[in-house]
Amino acid sequence: MPLTRRAFAQRLAATAALSNFPSPLLPAEGSRKIGYCMVGLGRISLGHFMPGCRLSQMSQVTALVSGHRDKAEKYAAQYNIPASNIYNYENYDQIAQNPAIDAVYIALPNSMHAEYTIRAAKAGKHVFCEKPMATSVKDSQAMIDACRTVNKKLMIAYRCQYEPTNLRAIELIRSGKLGKIQAIESANGFHETLGEWRLNGKLAGGGPLMDVGVYSLNASRFLTGEEPVEFQAYSSVIDKDGRFNDVEENLSWIMRFPSGVLASCNTTYGANMPGFVRVHGSNGMLHLEPAFGYEGIRLQAQIKGEPAMDETNPAKDPAQFTREGDYFSDCILSGKEPKTNGEEGLRDMQYIERIYRACGRSLL
Ligand code: NAD
Repeated sequence: MPLTRRAFAQRLAATAALSNFPSPLLPAEGSRKIGYCMVGLGRISLGHFMPGCRLSQMSQVTALVSGHRDKAEKYAAQYNIPASNIYNYENYDQIAQNPAIDAVYIALPNSMHAEYTIRAAKAGKHVFCEKPMATSVKDSQAMIDACRTVNKKLMIAYRCQYEPTNLRAIELIRSGKLGKIQAIESANGFHETLGEWRLNGKLAGGGPLMDVGVYSLNASRFLTGEEPVEFQAYSSVIDKDGRFNDVEENLSWIMRFPSGVLASCNTTYGANMPGFVRVHGSNGMLHLEPAFGYEGIRLQAQIKGEPAMDETNPAKDPAQFTREGDYFSDCILSGKEPKTNGEEGLRDMQYIERIYRACGRSLL
């Protein structure tokens, strides 16, 4: 039965209490907004994170870093950012002298995350870094070390871990209602076009596993609450049209968790594969689809002895971005360690490395 907006809000409040994550986050009395410097003005920063900050009472965009001055000036005008707060990739380190910047938001191609995180830490700024954290375990560790040395926070943008419907799925599993979890199925992919940096091994570090498969990997971990111990994987290239000279087109893997839960996951750049997760337990199953999108996250569950469940988060894009940004702002203001800190990103990078090894590939 579809959930009314009011019922969803009540459910949300209950989930928020359980997850120790107030919803919605509101600034403590007298506290200021955290100022973010956008590093990279691409799709995710311009289309989602910046509009998310616009709706926030805790976060605001105060500076921009871009290789294109005219583009930066256009968005600076829209966000009331003074020209003196526009930087490029060369003078980026000068953010150290700007008190309007508390944190940077790294929204660059994957292989650039490490350099711009480490430079931000050296400039004395907190770092909110897009997923995947980096393109190697070594770089991920260096990012953690750089932030820790200067006592600055590092959070990886795993927005699903802050999204209420995903939190509700976790709650349902932890409550034991699904019985013993036996298996997880998940997929996430899209059709990528020639010329995109995501197909360039040096910039992307890998193919769809790095970019969208990581959602299935991360969800399998946060839904089970376990860390995978064994991996089997296959990759393939079907389209010999020049797109997949560097990176894989398709990748399928199975992970075994210590309890015996087996997670089977698929990812691709060759087809529009809707992002979903199904969790099968001895007492029922739950199905998240869309599981990883920017809005409309839907949870259906069939549990023995209970009415069928069908809930969709009514929040529209960019609500997820406001929420994860505010969570990080709250961590900065309160001194709390982010749930999805650098170690969380590092763990996924270690598993990604093992998945690539299992199918005879490596991180690029
Ligand atoms: P994009 O291509 O739209 O933007 C990339 C930005 O980096 C652009 O501003 C571009 O000018 C800049 N850039 C600097 N040097 C570059 C270079 N050498 N080559 C290409 N671009 C360069 O990419 P995007 O989709 O915004 O992705 C950016 C990051 O955000 C990626 O790490 C991606 O995985 C992540 N992302 C996260 C989500 C999410 O939902 N959390 C969604 C999309 C992307």
